[in-house]
Amino acid sequence: MRLIFLGPPGAGEGTQAARIVQKHGIPQLSTGDMLRAAVASGTPIGIKAKAVMDAGQLVSDEIVIGIVADRIEEPDAKKGFILDGFPRTLAQAEALDRMLDSKGVKLDAVLELRVDQSKLVDRIVKRAEEAKAAGQPVRKDDDPEVFKTRLEAYN
Ligand code: AMP
Repeated sequence: MRLIFLGPPGAGEGTQAARIVQKHGIPQLSTGDMLRAAVASGTPIGIKAKAVMDAGQLVSDEIVIGIVADRIEEPDAKKGFILDGFPRTLAQAEALDRMLDSKGVKLDAVLELRVDQSKLVDRIVKRAEEAKAAGQPVRKDDDPEVFKTRLEAYN
């Protein structure tokens, strides 16, 4: 099964996708998680992406398309995958079409999560507070001001 989860930041795509992962045994391919991992390990991609991510803006299509193209070639993605946070631009959507065409496979569904935008900021603030209380790192982009930029980028 090949799915795309769409939704504004804070809509809960990650949480919902994790449920499908458990049920269907397919991986969740979150470009946000992949980019954060690259930043944390200081790879060349991470170094380029960090400032853009911290500002709540979109990382370049070239970088993001490259990481997705590599990731969907891995053995665990053969049976299917859930794309979470990708595609986010027309160029990314077109690149995904080409990747799927070249593999001779099709998407099964695109799910869009819609949440009242006023509720999203509350959720992000809560996520940051919970991370802090649990002693986990707080995402720099889970800040109400940066969040506005992320929402604009999503829209
Ligand atoms: P997310 O965890 O999906 O909210 O993504 C966190 C940040 O990673 C975004 O605000 C962007 O800076 C970057 N990012 C994640 N996915 C993409 C994408 N498909 N295209 C561009 N930037 C992305």
